[in-house]
Order: sequence, then structure tokens, then C-alpha cells
Amino acid sequence: MSQQTPHVVIVPSPGIGHLVPFIEFAKHLVQHHKFRVTCIIPTVGSPSDADRAALSSLPPTINHVFLPPIVVSFDDHSTAESNENTNPLIFAVTRSLPPLRDVLKSLMSTTHVVAFVADLFSTVSFDVAFEFNLTPYLFFPSNAMALSFVFYLPKLDEMVSCEFKDLPEPVQIPGCVPVHGRDLLEPVQNRQSEVYRWFFDITKRHVGLAKGIIVNTFMDMEARALKALLEEPGKPPVYPIGPLTRVGSSDPDDVSGSNCLTWLDDQPSRSVLFVSFGSGGTLSRAQLNELAFGLEMSQQRFIWVVRTPNDESSSAAYLRDQISDQKNPLDFLPEGFLERTKDRGITIPRWGQQVQILSHGSTGGFLTHCGWNSVLESVVNGVPLLAWPLYSEQKMNAVMLVKDLKVALMRPKPNEEDGLVIREEIAKVVKELMEGEEGKRVRKPVKDLMNAASKSLMEDGSSIKHFQS
Ligand code: UDP
Repeated sequence: MSQQTPHVVIVPSPGIGHLVPFIEFAKHLVQHHKFRVTCIIPTVGSPSDADRAALSSLPPTINHVFLPPIVVSFDDHSTAESNENTNPLIFAVTRSLPPLRDVLKSLMSTTHVVAFVADLFSTVSFDVAFEFNLTPYLFFPSNAMALSFVFYLPKLDEMVSCEFKDLPEPVQIPGCVPVHGRDLLEPVQNRQSEVYRWFFDITKRHVGLAKGIIVNTFMDMEARALKALLEEPGKPPVYPIGPLTRVGSSDPDDVSGSNCLTWLDDQPSRSVLFVSFGSGGTLSRAQLNELAFGLEMSQQRFIWVVRTPNDESSSAAYLRDQISDQKNPLDFLPEGFLERTKDRGITIPRWGQQVQILSHGSTGGFLTHCGWNSVLESVVNGVPLLAWPLYSEQKMNAVMLVKDLKVALMRPKPNEEDGLVIREEIAKVVKELMEGEEGKRVRKPVKDLMNAASKSLMEDGSSIKHFQS
């Protein structure tokens, strides 16, 4: 490949949930445009095993460089996106700008770099792109609804003086299902906070600087939201090119849980519920206990990726290396649970092979935190969801999945007194998804969406056309 082959630089913000879709995007760039790609990755702590696994087995046209790790101190109360002064994502990207500049300089001396792509949390790196006269693009690994909200926020901020969660009426984001203020994304939940000001600034200043915005969704999934985004003037052009999802192993060394795939082979078709809260989601001790009893009472088959519980934060595992967690999450399960459920359930500590589990014919439901990668991975496999949103934009995603697309059931409401979703309610909704009428009701829309997803990625499909434009 000659030095003149057009080269694209991509800069994901830290976290496997950002890296995964960026890598799939890189594969498309290579396949459809014959570009070369270099992925320059700011990291918090050191790169995780999941990061390394996601980057293994890529073609030689896609290179990667980890920037020197940035040390972020996580106190027990910090979450991935709500820590007041040191949002770890922004902190890491901002601190990584000098080495990013060095890597870019050296790359530009040997290759023909034509574009620079960052995500929302790494848009601070646009300034470096401008220094090198590069055209910056925004890659938005979430959906059109969240992107639409990014554009709508300045207007909402102007119209509303109270906290959004106190609004009596749902918020009407253009082209989207109405969402209650308390379900809007996490950084806007406290308007007095640093993180709100930072988010507001990014939406107002950085996003508009992008030459184009690439979003990981597709027409049939979010037609109205996309139409609103594509038609409203004054925005950079938007390219819906999804669903970009991973195929193959997320962990070649299979640190835990390879036997779960063999176990799945022996289960009846569509009979197993997969339970996982993404790369970072954590439950409190009490909630973990209720979930365990709920799964047991439901009498359904399950595979559950169990994390060490955390009573302070629902994203306590985010950006922390799962494998180096010294505690054994299974020790936090109720006494006798593993023995009592061994004939119908598998528990995997910390990290599971999500894509393989979701694509297995025995998997019939996914209890998920509604991270966008997880949602898309479920949809492309036609697996209906049980929405249990925790942080970030997950509550908005859940509303879209349940109310608009009708491919998911919502987990029961937490108790007013202690915020717990109790075991009886969990058992009921799990049973409903796997064997009840409501479960049947969501199966058809999710199958339709699966077929539409596959069409959108065909040569003449909507996403490929947007990709080529
Ligand atoms: N993942 C996995 N095994 C796990 C947990 C997560 O392979 O045990 C992968 C999952 O398949 C997805 C990504 O990690 O590709 C998580 O991204 P998502 O957007 O769903 O959630 P986030 O972790 O960013 O909240």
C-alpha cells in the first residue's frame, strides 16, 4: 500500500463501549473506501484486556496506538459521567492532547492523512486537528435520539428554568418519542454542576465544528429522528451508517465463561435469558441479591455476567479493568444460589462473550442496561430486551425501545422507599418476556428490525449508501 493511500485518523474516548463501534467503523472505511486507518487511543489507567482483545486480529490496514495512560483517581462516589470536576473521559482526552499531537505529527510526515474523526467526549481533540489543517468529523457511537438531544439542549436550556427532572410534561426532542426530564441523559440531570456546563459547552461549541456527523444507527430504527436531523438546517450533515456491531469474540483468551457456549448448545431454542449490564454497570448489594432471587423464582434458564456490587455508583466498573478486580463477584450471591440454580443457570464473573451469547440460537431474551452497543447487538440477532437502564443515555434508550420500537419490556419500577426492584416483580417480568403474552408481542417487532438492520447493510441498503456519500 503506497504512502499516498488516503489515511484516516480516529480518536475514540476511553472505554470499550466507545472503542468497539469505532473499530467497526474503521473496518467499513477500509472495506468501502480503501482508506488506511490509525486509531489513536487515549487511555485511563492502562488499556484493559477487553480493549486489547477488541483490537486483535485487525487487518494490516488498521493500526492502533495507545497514548500514555492517564491516571484518574476514582473515589467511591465517582461515576463515568457525573464526577464534578474530573470527568474521567474528558480529563484523559485533554491530558492526552500533547502525545496525540506528537503521534499525529509523525503520522503526517509519512502518510497522506485526509480526515480526523473523534467522538463526543474526544471532540476537545478537534483543536489538534485544526492545527494540522485536518478536516474533523464527529463519530457518534450512540443513536439519533441522543444526537438530536445534543442539538436540542441549547433551546431547552433557554426555554426552561427549573431542573429538567422537575418538568411536569415530557420533553419533546424533535422526531423522538417524548421523554420525561428525569430520563434524559445523565450529564444534564444537575444544571448547576460542572459536568452540565461542560456538556452544554461541547454541544454548543464543538459539535458544530464537525464537517459531518456519523451516527451508529439506521433509517428503519430511527426514521423520524433521522429525518428531523437530516432536514433541519444549520447542522453539519448527518450520516446514519449503522448498525456497526462486533462479530466474533470479545475476548480471544476467553478469560471466563467459554463453557457457557457449550452449555447453550444443549438448551432449547430461544429459552435462555442473557443478563448483563455492559462494561461498566453495577448494582447495589441489595439489588444484586434481589436479582438473584428473582431469576431463581422465575424458573427460567439464564446466563448472568455478575459484577462485584457497589452501593455508591451504578457505573462503578466503567473504565476499571474487570480482570484485575481482585474480588470474586460470585461471593456476593445469596447463599446456595449457585447450587440451587445449577441446572438452569450459568453465572460468569466480570466479563462474558456477549456477542457469541446473543448470536446463539438458544438465547431468547436479554436483560440489559441498554448501552447502545448492547442494544444493537441484541437487535441484529433478533433478541427481545428487558430494559434495566442505569446511567449515561440508557434511560432514553430504554424509552425508545419500549415505547417507540416496542422491542423491549421495561423492568418493574423500583420501590419508592428504598429504590429496590424486588424479586417477585423481577421474576414476573422475566417470565413475561420469556413465556408470556407481552414477550410474544415484542418478538415480531424485534425480528422485523433485525431484517431491516441486515438490509440496511447490504450493498444498496440505506446505511451503505450514506456511508458511500
Ligand atoms: N461486553 C462484552 N462482555 C461483557 C460486557 C460487555 O463483550 O461482559 C461488550 C458488549 O458486547 C458491548 C460493549 O462491551 O460491545 C459494551 O458497550 P455498551 O454500549 O453496551 O455499554 P457500555 O459498556 O458502554 O455502557
